[in-house]
This record gives sequence, structure tokens and C-alpha cells, in this order.
Amino acid sequence: MNPWVLRYEGFDPASEGRREALCTLGNGRFATRGATPEAGPERTPGTYLAGCYDRLESEVAGRTVSNEDMVNLPDWLPLTFATPGSAWFRPGGARLPEYRQDLDLRHGLLLRELRWQDGAGRVTLVRQRRLVSMADPFLAAMETTFVAENWSGPLRVRAGIDGDVANRGVARYRSLRGDHLTDQAAGAGDGLTWLTATTRTSRVAVALASRIDAPTGPGEATAGAAEVHTDHVLDLVQGEPVTLTKVVALVSSRDAGVDDPRAAALRRAARAPGFGVLMREHVEAWQRLWLRARLDVDGPQVSQIVHLHVFHVLQTLSPHTAALDVGVPARGLHGEAYRGHVFWDELFVLPWMNLRFPEVSLGLLRYRWRRLPQARKAAREAGREGAMFPWQSGSDGREETQTLHLNPESGRWLPDNSHLQRHVGLAVAYNVWHHHLATGSMPPWAAELLLDIARFFASLCVRVGDRYEIHGVMGPDEYHDAYPGASSPGLDNNAYTNVMTAWLLLRARETARLAPALAPPAEELARWDDIARRMRVDFHDGVISQFTGYAALLELDWSRYSRVRRLDRALEADGDDVNRYKASKQADTLMLFYLLTADELLEILRGLGYPADHGLIMRTIAYYLERTSHGSTLSAVVHAWVLARYDRSSSWLFFTEALLSDIEDVQGGTTAEGIHLGAMGGTLDLLQRCYLGLEVGRGELRLDPLLPDQLGLLSMSIRYRGSQIFIDADHRRARVNGVESRVFTEEKPIMTRTSDLGRRLVHHRERLGLSREQVAERAEMSAGYLGYLEESAEPPSSGVLYRLAEALQTTVDDLLGSDVDRPPGRGPAMAHPTLEVLQEEECLRLISPGGVGRVAFSGSHGPTVLPVNYKVREGAIVFRTAPHGPMDEDLRTGLEGVEIKVGFEVDRIDEARHEGWSVLVQGAAHHVPPEEAGDLAEAGISPWAGGARLLYIRILPTQITGRRIHGL
Ligand code: BGC
Repeated sequence: MNPWVLRYEGFDPASEGRREALCTLGNGRFATRGATPEAGPERTPGTYLAGCYDRLESEVAGRTVSNEDMVNLPDWLPLTFATPGSAWFRPGGARLPEYRQDLDLRHGLLLRELRWQDGAGRVTLVRQRRLVSMADPFLAAMETTFVAENWSGPLRVRAGIDGDVANRGVARYRSLRGDHLTDQAAGAGDGLTWLTATTRTSRVAVALASRIDAPTGPGEATAGAAEVHTDHVLDLVQGEPVTLTKVVALVSSRDAGVDDPRAAALRRAARAPGFGVLMREHVEAWQRLWLRARLDVDGPQVSQIVHLHVFHVLQTLSPHTAALDVGVPARGLHGEAYRGHVFWDELFVLPWMNLRFPEVSLGLLRYRWRRLPQARKAAREAGREGAMFPWQSGSDGREETQTLHLNPESGRWLPDNSHLQRHVGLAVAYNVWHHHLATGSMPPWAAELLLDIARFFASLCVRVGDRYEIHGVMGPDEYHDAYPGASSPGLDNNAYTNVMTAWLLLRARETARLAPALAPPAEELARWDDIARRMRVDFHDGVISQFTGYAALLELDWSRYSRVRRLDRALEADGDDVNRYKASKQADTLMLFYLLTADELLEILRGLGYPADHGLIMRTIAYYLERTSHGSTLSAVVHAWVLARYDRSSSWLFFTEALLSDIEDVQGGTTAEGIHLGAMGGTLDLLQRCYLGLEVGRGELRLDPLLPDQLGLLSMSIRYRGSQIFIDADHRRARVNGVESRVFTEEKPIMTRTSDLGRRLVHHRERLGLSREQVAERAEMSAGYLGYLEESAEPPSSGVLYRLAEALQTTVDDLLGSDVDRPPGRGPAMAHPTLEVLQEEECLRLISPGGVGRVAFSGSHGPTVLPVNYKVREGAIVFRTAPHGPMDEDLRTGLEGVEIKVGFEVDRIDEARHEGWSVLVQGAAHHVPPEEAGDLAEAGISPWAGGARLLYIRILPTQITGRRIHGL
């Protein structure tokens, strides 16, 4: 088995749907299912543009329902052929002595090779290569080579674009409208064909243009109302290959810088290179992605599936996606299940992305941020504060969850209450925080997003006695949507929602410190603290209760429903109700153990005043494991994780199931409707976070590998706070960047420190001339503890770090050494900044201590600004440079009495306070004659750059100005 190639032998109409989904090609902007280019009833073609949705109303069960779909766009694949006297080729029913399809994961190519024997016995070999360009995200191409094996003569070929398409990919949605495209038009000219269409409600204009490169020219074009094609006649000579290439450009009115999609598509198709160059650039782009996404395991089958999962995650969410306004569609760009909607699945995908493509994660988080106004409106309408994100999100961020869903087993349309899964906001906030941990950055907008979500969850909390409670929600387990027999939906105190709310409010506090301009008022912070200490969590039988009242539910007779994944449907079809039973669709309470480390969780529970220990975790895992039907592919991911440290062989079984989710279609028929992106991302995250034990902390990465017996080796490259790190581990040791830092033992996890906290603490303390005792007092800690921090390798909790940063008048980033290579001043502005013009006297006072300033002058290569170490002597600025160096030469006019005017600037940026000042000195630069230089030597100017900078330059100010930014 080739770990880089997914191979299908033979043509099997029954499994075409799944193959099409798994052989989808995409570039993060658009994707096309791996359907055959020829017609046939088994075919479900689909081309989807990320973020292109349309809304239509349908009548079902006597009600009008509105659904927004990711739109199936015109099909660019059609291409067929005919030997003399035969009908157009279709694989279904044809005599195919050979038929093979390969998905080449390393190069992003779909290859097909078939031999067709027509009714007259003529055998024609057909080789096809298809790509959706990762180099130019507007282009796709398909190259077809024909070889007449035992005959010679004309072969007719027809290639086209079909605009008569609709969303018909999911059987159970077929009673809903799917005819999203309208106003189709098609035409041809200048050797190109084109087809345009518009979505009905969202009015997105899409245009496809196609160019055929064939030895016989562009062919004869015929345009219909919603279709266009070209006909070609290739003169085949026995044994001699003839190649025809179709290059397609796809442009929409959603694209930046496009006024006329049709014209833009035609331009792009016309100037696109031939297949060879297109493929080379595409393959190079994939090589760059694989370098960043490298993840190797031993064992060809696991390795192949891991590659497949990386491949599909990157085809859906690539660096091209970062610039778009799109979220994480649950089923990729690979099919129409869930209508292309965005749920909480990003929770399973972004932790992997953060450590390889943080810019893509950031782009995906922006999708949420752009929809803050809609989420705020939803919160207000629900009588809450902050931002309430919808369970299902599409184009504009309104709630897209259907109000009715069809139970295919009973044929009944039932109310759908899943919009009560408020926990989707927790997933967004979790991702914001973990992006921050992985990159060290927290852009103000991201802080705003997290804080507004925190505000919403705080406003969901009601005080009951001395606890806070959250009522009327649903947890990740979608089976339970109400108490048995209740007249209104919703459950109280879902443990996952409540505990994660406490977690979120703690992180919100830290975020408020990172973005002081956005910090909530003191009373609000105080309430958040209070909630984080008093949130209610229920327990029964020594385990955490999934929600209040769970203990009173009935036990299900699992033997009657063994292997039934969708118990909700089966029970409803039997006239029963899953709400009556202790039965979950997927991990709910156990999600806590997936997202939080055992220590984090126990700390939160103890902080809430509940006795908690590792035994509680183990009992809770065992309890819910017996009561879960795994009706979602996400369930296996979570269970593999939670069992990893308690029951390694079961963990491996769940991991294998998660790996097989799509390639083996474990949920029975769902893969054909689109891949399960959350499970794919989740398996990758599992390898790094669970089996490699990679923990991303504040300024450090911890490795605590615990490889399953079935994996001998695991290696991956990650990007952590700007550094590329290569990690490889086996059962005995782990290496970081090739260095066997320490032999791994369970007691002593390897730790890669990226900060030098102790040294920085000492530096700042000495800079301020403070004693350990003084700093300790300011930071509300003992001097002994501060001494320990100054000497130890372990960074403290973030709360301690913030207090220290404040006490030392610096930032947490600075203390962790994570901002050395970044320009200062990246934080948000203050709430009410004041810009003050400084007097000359004040300017002189500010610059007189000397330090680093910048000299600006007109250099030989244009305007130049360079930093220098300077001192102020007798009202002049003095610095040193190298004789005959570039600065020396540039500041000489060579003419007696003609001086060079320069600018000299000094500033100070206070990261902690978001304040600063700058002073500008303008004047003439003079070379200090050697006889005067002796006097200046005592000024003690020592350039940081080192070297023999023996020449002194003096700037005599003619004007000194300055400004200061500060708060009220
Ligand atoms: C799961 C959700 C998930 C959704 C989309 C559902 O079956 O229960 O947790 O977000 O699928 O993947």
C-alpha cells in the first residue's frame, strides 16, 4: 500500500458517491467532487465555492421553511468521447478491461486510467489527470490522453460546462428546494467557452470559462440555455497518444477586485498556462504545504489515512482561505450534508491548524468576529448580553438550524431544537484562546470576540441560592433536547456548558489584561469571578451528571439497540423518545476531559468547591462510555483521547474508528454527502495532543509522549510562536529539532522552553532598582516565591505572570521573551488617548539620558533611517560610526561650509500602558575633527553594534519638537 495514494480498482456505481467525496479536489477557495467527467445516473457532481450560500423557501409538512445552502455551482467536468459509430462513452455498462482511479495525495492530483472496448472491439486507453490548482486558486484543469490500442481513426470528443445543476446531493433534503441557480447564460468566442449563473436570493454571480488545448484547435462550440460545449475530432493513429486539456477558471462576484465575473473568468482562462506548467506550480504549492503540515507515522495504512485527513483539511482550509470570509464547514467543500453549514466542528480542527497555519486559523476566527453584530443582536433578542453565536451558521451569521428535521426511519418531520446548543460560543472562545497560546498574539478584535462570548455566558447564569445555574440549553449530545414530557425544550446545568463557562470567565479575565482598552468594568469582572467560583455542577453515583435530573432517567436496554448509532431516530420510529433514557449520541460530559487537562479540570472543580480527584474522571469516563451510541464521527475522536491514559487498547480502537470514519464510511452512507472535517482534524490533533502529549502553554511546549503500542514512531513539524519545531518520538525518547534533549520517562516529561523568564524578571527588577521584597509586595506574593521564579525553569500561572508584569511595569509577552522579534506597540489603543505637543525643554529632558535613537538622512540608495547609540553633549547629539562606512560617506558633502541636514528621532513605547512619546531633532550633521574626539571619549558612547566605530558625528539641533500619547 502506498501511503500517499488512495487507489480504487474497477468502476463500482454503488460506491461512486463515497469515492466522489473522498476524491474531491480543492484549494481552500473552491472544490470539485471526484465525479466522473462522463454522464451517468451514479454521478453526483458538485463544485462548491467557500462561503457561497443561497437561501430558499420550501413547503414541508404544511409549513414554510427557509434553508440556506452552500450552492452547487455549474459542473465544469463534462468530457466524453465516442469511437466511430458508437454512442458517447459512459463508464456504467461499458466494457472496461481496466479501470483505476488514484488520488495522489502528495501532489494533489486525481488520476484515472481506463481501457474501453467498444461494441466493435476497438480498445482505447484513456489516461486522465485532474487538478484544482493550489497555486492559482481560480483555476482547475483536466488533461486527457487517448491511445487507440488496436485501431486507427477519428475519435469524437465533447467537452463542456453544465449550468443545469441544483443541490440534489442529499436524498433526505430532496423534498426541499435546491434550485439555487438562475439566469444561466452561455457562449463562446476567441477559443474559449463560458457559462454564467446567479444565485436566486443572495445574487452571487458566478462565471466559468474554459479553454481547450487540443492538437486540432479549440473545437466547434455550441451554446445552449444552461450549457455550453465544444466538439473535437482527434485523428488517432494506433499506439500513438493524443492529448486534450481543459483549463477552467471560476470567478464570482464575491471575489475581491472583480467587477464583471464573466470577463474576469475569460481573462484568467485565456492567460492560464498549459497543463504542464499548471501542474508544476500546483505540485510546488502542495510541497510547501506538506512541509508545514508534515506528520509521519509508521505503518502504511495509518499513514495513508493520516495523509488523507491532512489533505482534505487543507483542501477545505488552505492559506487561500485565510483571506476569505468563511468558516469551517462541517462536511468540507465535499458535499451537501448539513447544507455546508458551520457548527462547532472548528473546535476539532483549529488546534491542529494553530500549530501549522496560524494565519488560516486567524482568518477562520475572523469569520466569527465579522458576525459579532448578528450574534449580539441574537443575544439581545434572547434577553441576554454579549454575543450568542448560532448553532448553525452560514452567510450572515444568523441561526441557520432547521426548525424541522426529517426522521428518515419514520418519515416524520419533527421539531428540531438543536439551536439550543449554546456551547458553540464556547468552542469559538476556546479557539481564540488556544490561537493565542500557540502564537503569543491576541489581536484586539480576537479579544473583543472572546470577551463578548464571555459576557453572553455570564448573562446566561442565574443565581439560585449560593450557586449560578444555566437553564434551557442542550449539550453536545444532541439526543437530549428536553426533560421527558416537558412542554418546552432545553435542559438545566449541562455540565459541559457550565464548567466551560467557568473556564471561559477565567480566560476572559486574562484576556482583559491583555487588551486593557477592552476590559469590562470592575463590577462585571467581579461577577465573572463570582460565577467562576460558584457555578453549579451536578453529581450522581460518584460521577459528574450530564445535566440536572440526569440521574432520574431510565436505563436503556442496549441489547435491543446494539450497533444502532442514531438511537433518536430508531426510538422515535418505535413511538418512544430518547429523552427518557440515559443514552447519549456522542461525548458530552466527556468533552471536558478532551478540552481541558486533568489538572485544569480538577482545579476548576475544586475552585467551585466540589471535591474532585482523578478517580472522578475515571469513573465518569467509564459511566458515559457505557451509555453512548457514537452517532457522530466526533464521538470516536473524543473517546480515543479520554481513554488514552486509562485504557490504551480501547483508545486505539476508537482512534482507528475515527481514522476510518470516512474512508470506510463508518456511519453508513454519510461520507457520500461530504467528508467529516471535524473527525479528520480531530484525528490529527489527537496524534499531537494526545499520543505525543503536546501541551501548549504560556511560553512553553511540553511533550509527554505516550504512543499506542500500534505506533512505533510519530514525527511532525509545528510552528510555535514563530519558530519552526520538528518533533519526533518513539516509545523511549522524544527529540526536538533533532536533539535528543532528554531521554523520555513518564516522570520527567521533556520540556522545550522558549522563554527565559527568570533572567527577565531579574533584569526588570534591576532596571527599576527594586529589591525582591519590593517586587514581591507589589505582585502580592512572597519574596521566596519570587526568588524561586527567578531561578526556576517553570513559568507560573498566567495570573501570577500578569501581576509580575504589572509590578515590573512591563508586559507578559516581554517577560516570556515572546516579543523580542516583533515591533513594539501591537496592542490596541487606549480608550481615550490624548496627543500632547511637547515643549523643547521637555523634549531635551526626555532625550538627555541617551540611548538608542534613529538618524534619518538622504542616503546614496534613497531615504535612510538607522539606529545609533547616542549621548547628548552641550546641546548636541553625538554618536559614533565607522570611518569610511556608508553613514560616514553619506553624511559628507565634500564641500567646505555645506552641511547635510539630518533628522534624529528618539521614542519610548510603553507596551503596558499603551502610551509613548517621540522627539524629533532636526539639524546639520558634522564630522567631529580627530583633535576634538578625545574630549568625547569620556562621554562613554558604546555602540551596541560593536566594531571600531571611531568616528564621532555631532548633530547641532536647529529645531526640536515632540509629542506624547497618554490616557486621561
Ligand atoms: C454532531 C455535531 C456536529 C455536526 C456537524 C452532528 O451530527 O452531533 O456535534 O457539529 O454533526 O458535524
